[in-house]
Amino acid sequence: MRKDIVITNQNIYNFVEEKAARLSSQLYRTIKKSPKDRGYFAMIVGSSCSGKSLVLIKLSELLSTKSKSQNFIFCQPLVDRQDILKDTIRSRTKESITATSFSTKAEIENIFHDYDIIAVDEVQLIPHGLQSFFLRELHLFLDRGGFFVCAGLDYNSLGGEFIFPALLKTRAHRVHHLQSLCSMCGKPADRFDQRLVNGKPANVNMPDFAGPTDTITYEPRCSDCLIIQK
Ligand SMILES: [Zn+2]
Repeated sequence: MRKDIVITNQNIYNFVEEKAARLSSQLYRTIKKSPKDRGYFAMIVGSSCSGKSLVLIKLSELLSTKSKSQNFIFCQPLVDRQDILKDTIRSRTKESITATSFSTKAEIENIFHDYDIIAVDEVQLIPHGLQSFFLRELHLFLDRGGFFVCAGLDYNSLGGEFIFPALLKTRAHRVHHLQSLCSMCGKPADRFDQRLVNGKPANVNMPDFAGPTDTITYEPRCSDCLIIQK
């Protein structure tokens, strides 16, 4: 049963905002001190509403205001979902930045060849048919000394892992875990989102990927409060 605690968007924003600001500053300092001939790969994971996109937005602002000479791009896969906007990275806090959406190997190749600093949001949504090519380009980019940071969900709402983020985590130099607040008990929630269909926990037989709709919603849960209907 839902306890007396009420987790509002403002509660969550207060919880994630400072941590997101701290991590974006840390990433910015890492970029500044990274040797130009050595690549670096940082990955940000966590449940929804944990501030992942907010870190990228704040990093973009730092790069734009403090180091105009840096050659950087922020991007995300182009997907047909109402919560993911084309050419925009948007946080639940409603902050957003212009980003480049990619959907082909040619676009991925251009991104990895034209920039020194690359940030990619929503990596779990990179289509399966592009993943091997993306990984190949990423490794070549790192070999050339580039700085790469990506963010995404690493666990799905069925208690399992998203495969591509799981693979990327094994390649990252550093994985940063962000937390949200469990919508049921208020404890920190670092992995899972509860998928609700018309307000009820979803069945395990639903597909791994199903974007939010009028009937499907997601909310962060701790492992104790995640419900998977068999
Ligand atoms: Zn909980």
